[in-house]
Amino acid sequence: MVRKLNATIEKCEGCGGNLVFCPDTLELTCEKCGKEQKFNKQKLTTKRNLNFDFQEDNYNKWVESNKVIQCKSCGARIVLNKLEYASNCPYCQSSFVSLSEELPGITPDGIIPFEFDGDEALHKFKAQVKKRFYVPRAIKKSLPRNKVSGVYIPSFSFDLDSKSSYKGVLIKTQTYFKDGKSYTREFSFPISGKINLPFRDIMVEASSQITQKQLSQILPFNSEKAYKFEEDFIRGYVVEHYNEDLKACFEQAKQIVDPNIRREILKKYAYSRVQYLDIDTKFYNEKFIYNVSPIYIFEYNYKKKQYVTLMNGQTGKLGKDLPISKIKVAFTVLIILLFIAGVVVLSILYSN
Ligand SMILES: [Zn+2]
Ligand SMILES: [Zn+2]
Repeated sequence: MVRKLNATIEKCEGCGGNLVFCPDTLELTCEKCGKEQKFNKQKLTTKRNLNFDFQEDNYNKWVESNKVIQCKSCGARIVLNKLEYASNCPYCQSSFVSLSEELPGITPDGIIPFEFDGDEALHKFKAQVKKRFYVPRAIKKSLPRNKVSGVYIPSFSFDLDSKSSYKGVLIKTQTYFKDGKSYTREFSFPISGKINLPFRDIMVEASSQITQKQLSQILPFNSEKAYKFEEDFIRGYVVEHYNEDLKACFEQAKQIVDPNIRREILKKYAYSRVQYLDIDTKFYNEKFIYNVSPIYIFEYNYKKKQYVTLMNGQTGKLGKDLPISKIKVAFTVLIILLFIAGVVVLSILYSN
């Protein structure tokens, strides 16, 4: 017996085939006959006020028609519609063997849907690899056999306003001429002040498989195209279960914005280097949303080494974890060294 899903159409009305989400149309499509089936979507426009009792009852529990499965090899926990079977882990391609007793937990507030399918992802991968200078020519010519899988990764997206006061000392180097010779001198000057900055859509991954560094390489996602979560969006795809708690992710969001505050302060001054800069920041108006976002994972071997490269499933932006040609790197270093040597020689000639 097939269990009725919450507010979703179960099978193709025409032929009874399975329905999967189609990234091109943002509708469901029948795997067998291709018939389109529309479903209700609402844009996601608001965030929740920050409240660390995230797991409390006032949040929607994910419907019973989902199960949590776990990859025995890499430990990824995946939320899957009970009607679907994911044969391979999107992260390591091992098969799922253990069926966890765990419940799916909280329904995501929002979803950024995939905007293109796996074939298109492969085209985009090839096109972008060709433009990356350091990637070996052999790979640009023909891609190693690879596996592409799409997965929705869990993340928290934060809005926060900041009020900072700062105090510090900056140093400026000046060049002056005396008797036809140039000299440099340094002088320091104190700075202090206040700065208020708003931050929006600071995305922090809550995945056990993807690091913030990997994620930052494929950011941003366009949050204007986020929808309220519907089961239909994830048909034919898998969702990774969130693995990190809201509080830890919020701490990380603050760490992400801190360098931006520092940069904005320093922008106001003409200086050569920083002697010290103390910044005291208070955050307020903190809001968040629990989102799932689309990622394609490419897994392949090159010269006996395994590579995993990520791609933003909405914009197609490719991550940086790619094979590197040592010859090209060596060549670039050589050019830079020659350039530096040239500058040194010129400056010696000039000063005499
Ligand atoms: Zn059909
Ligand atoms: Zn795995």
